[in-house]
Amino acid sequence: MKCIVCGINEAYENGICIDCLANLKNVSYDKVNITECPKCGAIKINKRWYYNNPENELFNHVSRILKKKNKDIEEIYNYSMDNNINLTLKFSDGIEKTLNIPLEISKESCPVCNKLTGSYYEAIIQLRTFSRERSYLIDDARNIIVDDVKRYNRQDPNSFISKIANLKEGIDIYLGKKEDAIKIIKDLDSKYFINTRVTKSLAGKKDGIDIFRYTHLIRMFDLDPGSIIFGRGKNYMVKSVEPGNINIIDLSIKKDVTMDEKTFFSSNFDVIRKPEKRRFIVISNNGLETELMDEKNFNIITVKGIISKDSIDLYNYNDEYYII
Ligand SMILES: [Zn+2]
Ligand SMILES: [Zn+2]
Repeated sequence: MKCIVCGINEAYENGICIDCLANLKNVSYDKVNITECPKCGAIKINKRWYYNNPENELFNHVSRILKKKNKDIEEIYNYSMDNNINLTLKFSDGIEKTLNIPLEISKESCPVCNKLTGSYYEAIIQLRTFSRERSYLIDDARNIIVDDVKRYNRQDPNSFISKIANLKEGIDIYLGKKEDAIKIIKDLDSKYFINTRVTKSLAGKKDGIDIFRYTHLIRMFDLDPGSIIFGRGKNYMVKSVEPGNINIIDLSIKKDVTMDEKTFFSSNFDVIRKPEKRRFIVISNNGLETELMDEKNFNIITVKGIISKDSIDLYNYNDEYYII
């Protein structure tokens, strides 16, 4: 039997075809107004900005309204967007209908893009070295920070770097979100031997509340093994550093000392000099001591213990040689 409405298709129900049944369905809906950021594509729905998958948020929003207004809609799918929002509706009787809801988009820069163009920042990380000389460590740390913030940005668009200033003595990194500075320092602390100091300054008032900016000064330990430093009334030789700890030799008693970051950096060590390294050739050992010869001036010295290598670097302090 042909459809009683169109006379073309086979009837499906009550003498009417599926297409005509779909056409007869009345769907109540309103035009959708949204605001879109022309810079990043974020969409504002009901006064809230959506940054991740904004089109998906819009689909959910429109679906909720349609289902509320049309109780017989069971499912909404096949979502696409041009000048309209195009949807397929499935009703409780199984009939499907496509719907194109007019979409009106107004453009407005979102708060995050406003912050970015305004060079907004809440915290500065100042990367410096212990020696105050520029080191590759500064650039390594900068790369870590840039990667960290990229990761944070996926969770929160307010996480961004608004400026990186290259200075003779280091790098200043301006952060859009102050909490990121704390996370970054934790990350750097797990990788380097560093000291951090924070200062805060008043940046202004917002709704009667003081707004502070935080400056985190990070000093990265950059001295090579064999360097001589002075602190706590004594000279020490640097042996090695690891995250959280430094190994140094107390030169007054020739004993190894391990210090944590807090103890070390609160001791106000000064740099006395760079390492004086000499290469020695192993000549012989008597089971207790090893005889070595200076590669340059052929002076012979004896050190305690057995050295199993052919040659070794020793570090000089006051005409005595130290193995590191
Ligand atoms: Zn029909
Ligand atoms: Zn934006």
